[in-house]
Amino acid sequence: MTYRILILGGTTEARQLAGRLAPRRDLDVTLSLAGRTQDPVAQPVPVRTGGFGGTEGLADYLRDHEVRLLVDATHPYAARISANAALAARQSGIPALRLHRPAWQPLPGDLWQMVAGADEAAGVLGETPRRVFLALGRQEITPFEAAPSHFYLIRSVDPVEPPLAVPDAAYILGRGPFGEDDELGLLRHWRIDTIVCKNSGGTATYAKLAAARKLDIDVLMFRRPEAPDMPTTGSVEEALAMIDHRVASAKRGE
Ligand code: NAP
Repeated sequence: MTYRILILGGTTEARQLAGRLAPRRDLDVTLSLAGRTQDPVAQPVPVRTGGFGGTEGLADYLRDHEVRLLVDATHPYAARISANAALAARQSGIPALRLHRPAWQPLPGDLWQMVAGADEAAGVLGETPRRVFLALGRQEITPFEAAPSHFYLIRSVDPVEPPLAVPDAAYILGRGPFGEDDELGLLRHWRIDTIVCKNSGGTATYAKLAAARKLDIDVLMFRRPEAPDMPTTGSVEEALAMIDHRVASAKRGE
């Protein structure tokens, strides 16, 4: 009998992990996506898309599909699904592990200010007009309508519809990874003086912070949400080792 794994994804690491597990004939791996992106990148294993219907729905899915291991490889700021995953795994009595990228740490020269989220960031921007790069998801930018005196540059994977209700905003489409030279060019071109972003970790979206350091640009960084207690790793390699350990225990009937 194959060992069934459900990976909660929506991240590069989830796709990488799925790619490493895909050739394994002793495993049956499914990747779950929330379905936010209109044209998601191709995945190396079968994909199911859309919410489960809260903790209960996820617990039902785990039972109905006889999932043996749940891997939460969602984005560190996707707090609701991580909380649901921890509860649903406990309710269904199946093991779970988390693959979350380690947070970036500030380096000398970084001008970071930590904020709770978009509402606080919009307040911190103040009244004096700034030129702000919102490196956030489409769903997270509405609070900046409360701070309309600033110019906003918004980069998103899918178009922002409707646009932000502020007098001065520009929209660009882009999907990481982004290189440092391109980010330097972007920040200079739009004369950005403030970046608002999350501490996502990983390499795909770090270049804007390296560029900000060179250009003395202020960064308003959202604090990471608390993640529920669960065996956690930041690396795909270590996640593979943890999965192997689980599979070996299951084969021994532990
Ligand atoms: P969230 O607030 O934690 O989750 C909201 C709801 O979306 C969940 O309750 C769940 O619905 C559904 N959901 C989330 N991830 C899912 C998944 N992998 N598979 C199936 N359903 C999922 O999540 P979010 O912040 O909106 O993020 C949505 C997705 O985008 C996540 O998969 C995440 O990995 C990815 N992502 C998020 C960010 C970010 O900054 N938040 C950045 C990059 C990628 P039900 O309760 O109905 O099950």
